[in-house]
Amino acid sequence: MKNKATEKVIIIGGGIAGLSAGIYAQLAGFETEIYEKNAIPGGECIGWNRKGFHIDNCIHWLTGTKKGTELYDVWKTVGALDDDMEYAPINAFYSSTYNGQKVTLWNDLERTKEELIALSPEDEEEIKKFIEYVEYSKQCLFPAKKPMEMWGVKDYIDMGKNMMDFPKVMKEFGSISLEEYSKRFKHPLLQHMMCDYLPKSYCAYSFLVSYATMADGNGNIPMGASLQMSLRMEKKYKDMGGRICYNTDVRKIRIEKKKATGIELEDGRFIAGDYVIPTVDTYLLFHKLISEKYMPKELHAAYDAPKAYPATSGFQVAFAVSTSPSEGETVFLDMDPLSVGNRRFDRMYVKSYGYDDVFIKEGRTVIQTCITQTDEDYEFWKSLPEEEYRTTKAQLAKEVQGRIEKAFPLYAGNIEFLDAWTPLTYERYCNAYHGSYMSFVTTPMGKQIKMKGTLKGIKNLYVAGQWTNSPGGLPVAVASGKFAIQRILKKQRRSIEL
Ligand SMILES: Cc1cc2nc3c(=O)[nH]c(=O)nc-3n(C[C@H](O)[C@H](O)[C@H](O)COP(=O)(O)OP(=O)(O)OC[C@H]3O[C@@H](n4cnc5c(N)ncnc54)[C@H](O)[C@@H]3O)c2cc1C
Repeated sequence: MKNKATEKVIIIGGGIAGLSAGIYAQLAGFETEIYEKNAIPGGECIGWNRKGFHIDNCIHWLTGTKKGTELYDVWKTVGALDDDMEYAPINAFYSSTYNGQKVTLWNDLERTKEELIALSPEDEEEIKKFIEYVEYSKQCLFPAKKPMEMWGVKDYIDMGKNMMDFPKVMKEFGSISLEEYSKRFKHPLLQHMMCDYLPKSYCAYSFLVSYATMADGNGNIPMGASLQMSLRMEKKYKDMGGRICYNTDVRKIRIEKKKATGIELEDGRFIAGDYVIPTVDTYLLFHKLISEKYMPKELHAAYDAPKAYPATSGFQVAFAVSTSPSEGETVFLDMDPLSVGNRRFDRMYVKSYGYDDVFIKEGRTVIQTCITQTDEDYEFWKSLPEEEYRTTKAQLAKEVQGRIEKAFPLYAGNIEFLDAWTPLTYERYCNAYHGSYMSFVTTPMGKQIKMKGTLKGIKNLYVAGQWTNSPGGLPVAVASGKFAIQRILKKQRRSIEL
């Protein structure tokens, strides 16, 4: 009989969740292999080069950069961060403009309060309340020590003590959408600002928690871009003896006598393993890798109700410019409406990346724009024949460029198109459901999806990845890899301390 520790764990997907699962499994003494369909690690946490410029795909904020938090320990264990890490010198969450006016959500909450009240004295009371509740939201820290089903009474008591004021946030903002919340403000710019960063159907508390994370220094951007972070994790995994197989598409998880026994690859090979951890998108998992009959009921209900459980993506364009007004700034612009399919958009953001040398070439820096896309927009892109898809993308990129030149006259004449991409890019590259960046949006109409990682009717299969816990994102992905290994250890009656 095999020694339990040297049993083999097979991981499907080399994104943040897969790399995390691999590293924690190596720590626990397992033999591991990761199978990844692409040629590089990182999944959605990557970047790519165009015309010699680096385009960053992912990290606008990385929750867990504050030392002393449970999540920081996880990022450190997987080699993504270390105590000497340098972060982007950015002192604000973002700015919003409307009708020639501009406001900024500074990391310094007092500064924000003063600026917003100066803009709209008649909203003073609501602004003060907003700032007070963002302050409370700093207490909402991502629990990353162990999966919640393993929590004991003491864990709940500790959480209660550390989050004394956070229930007030949930009571006030837990069941209204950002759109509804924005209407409490009278000034149109403040209304826009509240709905700019996250989709307006999101529960309002998510926005407060996001801003609090930035304001608390717990959501910084590591210097060196997203791909570099994934490469650091890959190095850590390989240094620990892990094996990663690229350009290897997994076709099926083999299930025999109600137990996962390995994976079948698209090239026909079968790889046997004692445990299988899929970290891919759950739509792909339950529609290709295993039968839909194993899909948990709540996940089924979510896919069937896209209004309550939307998935969001973006239409993005990157440019190189020779001067940039404020490096690292993200600004949401009001613009002449732009049509994508049947929908018209009058807001988009522009982020300048010149804060990091990675994005600078011969004095020119990268700027990126994004127009938020939903399930409906995905359907539009999907309906286009190949050639029309290409021409529509190019035409829209030109229109975006025109709007940028209008908003920032200093770019006119020195702006160079680098690349444009759509929800279909994420579908093609990562098999992402509707090209989604994260998991389902948390709306007041839907319940948060929380999968326990095991499936009824299949032993030795532990699901990880951002879709196991909505709304997903990097913290969920990295913690889910760790949790999958802790679940295996628990089953083996070994210590879950890692
Ligand atoms: C534009 C953008 C901006 C973002 N910004 C942020 C941010 O600022 N902060 C934040 O927290 N999150 C952000 N996210 C979300 C974050 O990138 C994801 O939550 C995270 O990377 C998901 O990791 P994952 O490992 O769960 O999934 P994935 O990254 O999707 O990894 C799954 C992997 O499985 C592979 N795979 C799929 N099918 C197969 C198969 N059949 N065989 C083998 N391999 C397969 C894929 O290629 C992929 O590498 C952003 C995402 C995007 C797209």
